[in-house]
Amino acid sequence: MDLQTSFRGTSDSGKLYLIPTPIGNLEDMTFRAIRLLQEVDLILAEDTRHTIKLLNHFNIQTKMQSFHEHSATHEIQEHVTFLEKGGVIGLVSDAGLPLINDPGHSLVQEALARSIDVISLPGANAALTALIASGLPSERFTYYGFFPRNKKEQKALLELVGQREETALFYESPFRVKNSIQSIVQVLGDQRRIVIARELTKSYEEYLRGEAEEILNHVIKFPLKGEVVLLVQGGGIGTEEIFEELDLKEHVELLMATKGMTSKEAIKQVAKIQNVKKQEVYKAYHIGG
Ligand code: SAM
Repeated sequence: MDLQTSFRGTSDSGKLYLIPTPIGNLEDMTFRAIRLLQEVDLILAEDTRHTIKLLNHFNIQTKMQSFHEHSATHEIQEHVTFLEKGGVIGLVSDAGLPLINDPGHSLVQEALARSIDVISLPGANAALTALIASGLPSERFTYYGFFPRNKKEQKALLELVGQREETALFYESPFRVKNSIQSIVQVLGDQRRIVIARELTKSYEEYLRGEAEEILNHVIKFPLKGEVVLLVQGGGIGTEEIFEELDLKEHVELLMATKGMTSKEAIKQVAKIQNVKKQEVYKAYHIGG
């Protein structure tokens, strides 16, 4: 067991701060992140040429060194020895939370192994920012990192997503997103609800919400640019067996709660699944009976 009392410690060791940076909009930098970047002894940055712009913007003059996924073991050891001697380090990546598809895990592991406090600051993250505005269920979700490139891996992963209830979150390149949606249509069907959140926090921010096939047609017509988060509705709930036990109103409510649909979308979907007229579902939902 290991107990970390982040701000009540008595040890002489320093601290490793994991500091989020904006994913596009500089106003998303927190006061605390700015203060710590000013106060730490050393900033470790994924790409110093990138981070220097952020530091200049906030007039931060702290010493900085590069730290990336392939930083040599001896460099990690040097940083940890510095921490052991009381040094304070702030780790940042190019955007968002460090360690979330960004470097830092090996440094955190090594610091913890030597009982150094590791303190993370809350802040910008593309996946969660996209999730909460996606309209898809957000109470339970799985973050898978980058969508696999290999067709076989895509199929295996999407089959898994199809068996699970929670929303799936992926990072994706704008150049591959069309192929990824094609795979989703093939494995999970054309009606699977998906959301593409693009250029979050920037002036070209966009959310594309809808069924896989209509989004596919859209991106074929209007190829996407910029940074992308791809969200896929879970598939565990929704078997015909469950639907058969529900009356029309309950079925609409279930789709709204679990699939993030509006009442209008859910009514249309229930009519389709239960093979009844839309007006009948509308009446059952709004008027009852
Ligand atoms: N550490 C970052 C975080 O906490 O979100 C993620 C870094 S990962 C290397 C970069 C990927 O995150 C991009 O390829 C894109 O999929 C996603 N991303 C980053 N910024 C984004 C933004 N402003 N809008 C949409 N997606 C973004």
